[in-house]
Amino acid sequence: MALKNSEAVVLRTYPLREADLLVTLFTRSEGKVKGVAKSAKRSQKRFGGALEPATCVRAWWQDREGQELARLDSCDVLLSPLASPMDYARAVALAHVCEMLDDLLPDREQNDSVFRLAWAVLQELETGSIWLPVTYFDLWMVRLLGFLPPLEECIECGEALEGRPAWFHALRDGLYCQQHKRIASSEMSVESRALAAQFFRNPVDHFADIAVPANRMADLRKFLMQILSRHLDRTLQTAAQMEKLD
Ligand SMILES: [Zn+2]
Repeated sequence: MALKNSEAVVLRTYPLREADLLVTLFTRSEGKVKGVAKSAKRSQKRFGGALEPATCVRAWWQDREGQELARLDSCDVLLSPLASPMDYARAVALAHVCEMLDDLLPDREQNDSVFRLAWAVLQELETGSIWLPVTYFDLWMVRLLGFLPPLEECIECGEALEGRPAWFHALRDGLYCQQHKRIASSEMSVESRALAAQFFRNPVDHFADIAVPANRMADLRKFLMQILSRHLDRTLQTAAQMEKLD
């Protein structure tokens, strides 16, 4: 079968037999593709550092008749996370982007909006603080997957929440006004909701030079991770790691 190629993000690798690696890629042309990189553990020649998770590559692969796993032929690195200094926060942020893509997207379903989002956010995670690009990514992912409730009104009474306090609850969708908030709710600040509105109007690199403190967006991230926990019926591993970084 023909050799295919596409821009792709390496999401994860898994040792397979003695020398092979099972690689999950998020490709622009076909969505998530799983493939076997033959002898990738033994020979550094063909793949080098290209299979490090969160690397942006051009991948070449071949589908095999009647087989779920493709044969990964080669990868050219376009942007490597190893090219910039790595610290723990950045490692967690990159792992978070990969976990979100791997756990929330179906196999072999093209999604150009999510691909462009991931690609842009990975460029922004090259330098500077992780919090803005990560929160931007989480908000847009939840929205593009169709899980985001309206942020402008109380989900119970429809009252406008702009400029007023709003609450959310781990077990329920949406934001609530003062009157309808449940016991054990968390508050989402007016500032975080205003920032979310800006995120919807601008590309992520628009915010590159704007310093936003991590705690400004912690409530927004908590709200988004609770939405995903309800949909996945479990908590993302990196969501807990991110929370400890705050
Ligand atoms: Zn209400």
